[in-house]
Amino acid sequence: MKLNELFDDGKRQMRLCNACRYCEGYCAVWRAIEWRRDFTPHDMAYLANLCHDCRECYFACPFIPPHEFAINPPKLFSGLRDQLYQKYAWPAPLARAVGGKLSGVWTVVILTIAFTVVLALASHTEAIWQRHVGPGAFYRVMSESAMIGLFGFLGLWMLFGWLIGAVRFWRDIKSPTSEKVTFQDVRAAISYAMSLRYLGGEGAGCKEPSSQMSSKRRLFHHLIFYGFLLDFASTSLAAFYAHVLKVQAPYPLYHPVVILGALGGIGLIIGICGFLYVKSRSNPSLADERAAESGNAFAVSLLIVAVTGMLLLAVRDTAAMGITLLIHLGSVAALFFIAPYSKFVHFVYRFIALVRYAQEDRVHAQPAREDKTKKQPIGTHSVTVSK
Ligand code: SF4
Ligand code: SF4
Repeated sequence: MKLNELFDDGKRQMRLCNACRYCEGYCAVWRAIEWRRDFTPHDMAYLANLCHDCRECYFACPFIPPHEFAINPPKLFSGLRDQLYQKYAWPAPLARAVGGKLSGVWTVVILTIAFTVVLALASHTEAIWQRHVGPGAFYRVMSESAMIGLFGFLGLWMLFGWLIGAVRFWRDIKSPTSEKVTFQDVRAAISYAMSLRYLGGEGAGCKEPSSQMSSKRRLFHHLIFYGFLLDFASTSLAAFYAHVLKVQAPYPLYHPVVILGALGGIGLIIGICGFLYVKSRSNPSLADERAAESGNAFAVSLLIVAVTGMLLLAVRDTAAMGITLLIHLGSVAALFFIAPYSKFVHFVYRFIALVRYAQEDRVHAQPAREDKTKKQPIGTHSVTVSK
């Protein structure tokens, strides 16, 4: 379905759901629809990114296909998310031209190979196959300036792409109230995101891969998320050691850079393999086909980064270090390059949707709190009278 058709179908499904409301309490989506009457494309963009794809609503619903109402929120929202990533991506012509085509697993593999070849051409050719040990060993394969130049550019490309997409999305889902977002809203959104609170309906896990409640998907998602954070911390610490303390990699096995990186790599490998396994066993009719492929491509691209990173740690004192380093850097470059167009961007939009939700939740809770406060003198008065 095209994006406009998905918006129309979303409006139809959400109106039916708003009349039914059986799924109230399953996740933030069902509270957010209570606060709406008309489901505009902006509303649908917000709701799609608020959905964590736990699938509880689908298994609870008596109106799923083949019923004529054909209600299927997980599939609707996954299709919307996938197309919205392209809609908000920057630069728009490039997003239109290559965004959809960058979603395949093979595209990720081909891009990794292409970046590896480019890096090899920018390296000291004879040094790739030699053994290098001691501080600065990596830079004997590829110069420090070439590494900083390439990854500095790709890092900025990724961050700039995410930032522009985030601003566009935030403007699109702006709240109808004049209430400002507060620090309390952001803190609530961070707590929802860090705990994956809505990846499991009421907290008992989610109905994937089967109709039984399971915490597998949440667990694997946590491993990927925190594994990635550990690797990010390791890379940042390595940059601090190299550029501030002037101590160059590779570092000994007991060094915090290596420990953080290894723990992160193990978390990523277990999490991604488990996640792909759960996905492979789940019902394909609950996900948009292109969105599923795009999700797999992102997972595979992250897996290549993690596996080659661990491999580099294992062979760094041998002659295989040079080629392993180039493949690892090639996979990181491919990941960064597709970041604004791939499933990687999902955490940006989901977090923004959670901030908006926390704000709406606070605003809608205010009248109830105010009512409680107003009732207080009556209670006090009655106590006084009874005395
Ligand atoms: S998904 Fe089905 S059961 Fe849930 S609110 Fe919508 S119509 Fe009702
Ligand atoms: S998070 Fe789960 S319950 Fe909520 S809309 Fe998505 S699939 Fe349905």
